[in-house]
Amino acid sequence: MVQTRQREAIFSVLQEAGRPLCREEILRLGRSKVPRLGPATVNRAIRELSQKLDIIGVEFPGQPRRYELPAGCEHPHFICRVCNKVFDLPIATELPPAQAPSGFVVKGGEIIYSGECRDCSTAYDV
Ligand SMILES: [Zn+2]
Repeated sequence: MVQTRQREAIFSVLQEAGRPLCREEILRLGRSKVPRLGPATVNRAIRELSQKLDIIGVEFPGQPRRYELPAGCEHPHFICRVCNKVFDLPIATELPPAQAPSGFVVKGGEIIYSGECRDCSTAYDV
C-alpha cells in the first residue's frame, strides 16, 4: 500500500498538469512534491489509483501508456509532433458507431489529433 501522502502527490500532479502524463512525467513532476519519490512507488500508486478508477490509462499507438483523471465526457486527444506530449481537447465528441466485421468485438475508440502544441509552435517565432 502506497503512503497516502505519495498517492495524493501523484494525484495532484495529474490534476495540475491537466493532460495525460506517462510514468516518467509523473515521476519527474511528483519529485517536486515528494523529493524521495521512487519509480516503484509511482508504479504502485498508479496501479492502486487505476484500480479505484481515480485515474484512467490512455494508450496511443507507439506511445507509452499515459494516465489522466476521469473526464466528464468523451474528448479527443492531441499529440504534439515535436515534443510528443499529449493534451486533452475540451470538445465534447461522440465516436461514430463502429460497424465491425463479424467476429470482432469493439471495446473502445479514440479520436486523436496531432500537430504542434503552444510551446512548440511558438519556438519558431523570432
Ligand atoms: Zn510540443
